[in-house]
Amino acid sequence: MEDQVPEEENRRLIGDLNMMIPVRCFTCGNVIGDKYSKFMEAVNKGIDPKEALDELGLNRYCCRRMILSHVNIIDQFILYEMVRLKDAQDI
Ligand SMILES: [Zn+2]
Repeated sequence: MEDQVPEEENRRLIGDLNMMIPVRCFTCGNVIGDKYSKFMEAVNKGIDPKEALDELGLNRYCCRRMILSHVNIIDQFILYEMVRLKDAQDI
């Protein structure tokens, strides 16, 4: 019997696997990791980023900068890991 969680349910529980935003603000320690996907959803719907940040309760500029300046580079890092693993197999 399989007790695997369906992918949709898994994504709901742990968020988008392609995002690696820090869990907490580097400056004040406020939890921001759960807000990035909500922020991106709102912005993709056409909501002004300022209003989206206000609605998420991110009022401090240190927390706002964490969201606004985040760049998703995990896909690029994964390519380096794949090359490293391929090189290790060739040796
Ligand atoms: Zn902060």
